Amino acid sequence: MRRAYKFRLYPNREQTGRLERTLETCRILYNELLAERKVTYEVTGGGISYFEQKRNLVKMKKVNDHLAQVNAQVLQDVTRRIKRSFDAFFRRIRDGKKPGYPRFKGRGRYKSFTYPQHVKSFKIKSGRLSLSKIGEVRMFQHRPIEGVIKMCTLKRDDIGDWSVIIVSELKDTPKIAIEETIGVDVGLKNLAVASDGLILEPPTCLRGSEKKLAKLQRRLSRKTKGSKNREKARAKVARHHRKIARQRRDHLHKASRCLVDSADRIVFENLNINGMLTNHHLSKSIADASWGTLIQFTMCKAESAGKSVELVPPRNTSQLCSQCGAFVRKSLSMRTHRCPECGLVMDRDLNAAINIRDKFTLGQRGRACGAVSVGRGDEAGSSPNYR
Ligand SMILES: [Zn+2]
Repeated sequence: MRRAYKFRLYPNREQTGRLERTLETCRILYNELLAERKVTYEVTGGGISYFEQKRNLVKMKKVNDHLAQVNAQVLQDVTRRIKRSFDAFFRRIRDGKKPGYPRFKGRGRYKSFTYPQHVKSFKIKSGRLSLSKIGEVRMFQHRPIEGVIKMCTLKRDDIGDWSVIIVSELKDTPKIAIEETIGVDVGLKNLAVASDGLILEPPTCLRGSEKKLAKLQRRLSRKTKGSKNREKARAKVARHHRKIARQRRDHLHKASRCLVDSADRIVFENLNINGMLTNHHLSKSIADASWGTLIQFTMCKAESAGKSVELVPPRNTSQLCSQCGAFVRKSLSMRTHRCPECGLVMDRDLNAAINIRDKFTLGQRGRACGAVSVGRGDEAGSSPNYR
């Protein structure tokens, strides 16, 4: 299991200069490597491999002074990044998705670089991060690092502050015996409702923050283009954007902690996040992103606790009656589930959460006795105890 720690860095002026220059050198190298791949393909119809590009770095360094000033492994990681973006591109083609050819990175579009090996190129010394070719940068380490340190990535945010993401490798937490399973329905009115009655509200602090953001943006729009004051106003907007993003993340961390602490297995609907992003309604798209992050955070925290997260296909979970299974059609505005068959009256989201939980547990039971499972019918035939 891998764990990432993010710590704030406080580089001095010279170090900041070196960090910025390294980032810029990496960006230019990235674009050159991308161009090389593109040209090779256009001329020969073939590709150029990751190893070839990595080998060529040695030659490039002899003629390019900027490259020589950056740690060799950091440069090698740039070739790895190119390889990864091409791998992803070919994977999208294979999966029949929109391919999206890897793009050249403009100024401000390249935000981080990586030291892939601990000890050789970077080290942590009491309160400082020692980086090859950069120096010993002051670091605020707000928590101890568990496990074996593997690599680190230096990241510059939109405001110009630097932080480091340190990745460590931990032993996997043994899985605990599962006693309690909850289903979780995510929504707009509540962030999430669990089948045991737990309600997670959307962050309330955001409403005030968003109002302030709108005010700052109005001010920015009134400033003359190219003026000093406009630049100041732009910085204020960026700073406030960052604050809102942090508040949102903080809330999602707390919410996912609640979920993981309240059960051994958490079942979500497998939401089609990509499909939902085509929705142009802003508040909706933000909510979509929040749900995705909530599921992701819950998965990470569950893994550390030896618990598990399962996903079930989203179908009719809000329409079916969780008590008798009757189909009760309701529009989005109907907040209460009223079943004409068995008389069950229940909050709409809670009813859906119970359905999500049952979809998984019934599916499992069905698979265990060899019947066609409800939740994951497609997998029933290939499950080992069926063969
Ligand atoms: Zn019913």
